[in-house]
Amino acid sequence: MIDNKLEIAIDTLKKSGVRITPQRHAVLEYLLTSMKHPTADEIYKALEDKFPNMSVATVYNNLRILKDLGLIRELTYGDDSSRFDSNMMEHYHIICEDCGKIVDFHYPTLDEIESLAQKVSGFEISHHRMELYGKCGNCSHMKTTVKQ
Ligand code: ZN
Ligand code: MN
Repeated sequence: MIDNKLEIAIDTLKKSGVRITPQRHAVLEYLLTSMKHPTADEIYKALEDKFPNMSVATVYNNLRILKDLGLIRELTYGDDSSRFDSNMMEHYHIICEDCGKIVDFHYPTLDEIESLAQKVSGFEISHHRMELYGKCGNCSHMKTTVKQ
């Protein structure tokens, strides 16, 4: 399944005339196998042993190329640490307020909200974003352990 996704993504790169460098391949593969929505820095750290000469700028550059081709998406949270997601299906996110963990949440797309918002605002709505916040299993468990 993941191999297939990687093959399809590489095919897209080839068709777009984008050179497939070993680093680019590694960044793409890492994102397709990681479900963690990593930051550029986390990707850099995960790959630096394999590519000692690679810079964080190279990671950013590769992420931008992959994003422009629609192979990944960037999740911004108002700070400078964007997260990157290779799941291009419509989905929502649940975020841990303590450790920042982000997991996918599959729920039917709330299309009716978009049409209602359009109706009441006169805006032409392009998309929406929903995030649910709370404490992940690890963090709420840690809290309980500390109390005892
Ligand atoms: Zn947590
Ligand atoms: Mn996601």
